[in-house]
Amino acid sequence: MPAMQAAILSIGDELALGQTVDTNTAWLADQLARRGLMSRLHLTTADDQSAILAALRWALSQAELILVTGGLGPTEDDLTRFALAELMGTELQLDQASLDAIAAFFARRGRTMAQRNQVQAMCPVGAAMLDNPVGTAPGIRALIDGKAVICMPGVPSEMRHMFQRHVAGALDEQTGRVIRSAVLHTFGKGESDIAQMLGELMRRDRNPLVGTTVARGIVSVRIRSEAGDVPSAESALETTIGEVKSVLGELVFGRDDQTLAQCVGRKLDEAGRTLAVAESCTGGLLAKLLTDTPGSSGYFLGGWVTYANAMKQGQLSVEERLIREHGAVSQPVAEAMARGVLGRSDADYALATTGIAGPGGGSREKPVGTVWIALARRMDDHTVKVEAQLHVLPGDRAMVRLRTAHAALNLLRRAI
Ligand code: ATP
Ligand code: MG
Repeated sequence: MPAMQAAILSIGDELALGQTVDTNTAWLADQLARRGLMSRLHLTTADDQSAILAALRWALSQAELILVTGGLGPTEDDLTRFALAELMGTELQLDQASLDAIAAFFARRGRTMAQRNQVQAMCPVGAAMLDNPVGTAPGIRALIDGKAVICMPGVPSEMRHMFQRHVAGALDEQTGRVIRSAVLHTFGKGESDIAQMLGELMRRDRNPLVGTTVARGIVSVRIRSEAGDVPSAESALETTIGEVKSVLGELVFGRDDQTLAQCVGRKLDEAGRTLAVAESCTGGLLAKLLTDTPGSSGYFLGGWVTYANAMKQGQLSVEERLIREHGAVSQPVAEAMARGVLGRSDADYALATTGIAGPGGGSREKPVGTVWIALARRMDDHTVKVEAQLHVLPGDRAMVRLRTAHAALNLLRRAI
């Protein structure tokens, strides 16, 4: 049997206008590719019923599986269901189970359903609804001339959830191949070092397949397991995860969606310790990353953004002499900032950052990207232990700041 042909159709004015980048199509194409299916056609239309209809017709002439995202919302410009009904030559009819589910979704949030949302429970006669536990818009599945059309919400998180819930399993069954994948995130070594350490594990003819990617200074190890059934795919995946972890050890900080800040937060939480920060070159980014995690108030106390030298002196008691003799970007100043935080707060740990983010401000001895980070720790005998690290980081201003924040988090992660 020849491989199934697939097409992806994304709908929305904001996509057609270039205001929103179409990440749904890229994500879906990747999901298909992982299962050995190539999408031969990607289409984008505005919120325009005749354009949606024409795109659906073309996609049906080219492919057996058509994945559609967007235009299922409650407003006037959400036209996917109308285009689909027109294509099928049928009417829309109310699907009571979907209406009840939408009403319940609002009720759980203590809101009443607006009249407008009722349209989201309208299903073309002959099609079926796909429930959406994470949003209001159910999806729609139709079989047209033996070809599957699957309409999903435009909101990326809802779309992904619906794909995993209603489409992935059926595709696995159809292709006779089950794919399970995981990502392990590392910090502290470059991609080539990680590849070197993984060695034979990265052979291209291996299953599960192991590969590396880098994004924003974090090297991630992707593991993709393929088998004839779910238990085999999952157990092979877990075995390889174990092998990768044993090779990389402490370099691995998290899996899948886990961030470095989450990992640090979890460790602080488990240890019952608290953290405060003093930031110069990161200007609050460290605090931002830490507070991105819900529940961070349990371990993160707060911090100081001491950008000017006078603030480092006045707020954190950094001696003027240290700045004069060593410069603001120096080991003594980073350490004094971290000590200053413990002097001004009850925190158990203090992180401090000071560096040259660029593009200006660099010199021969201290080029752009020169960063000192320090960690101060209050010991059980009330003494303070301080350690500092020098980094010379590549990248533009935004990258230097992000890498600095990550390096600081990693210093703490390794210390707890
Ligand atoms: P519903 O989710 O109720 O079906 P909808 O499908 O009309 O509504 P929109 O209101 O068009 O969804 O979009 C909701 C959000 O999802 C917007 O922020 C939009 O930019 C985003 N979005 C929609 N389609 C895509 C896409 N293909 N790629 C990335 N983001 C998208
Ligand atoms: Mg829309």
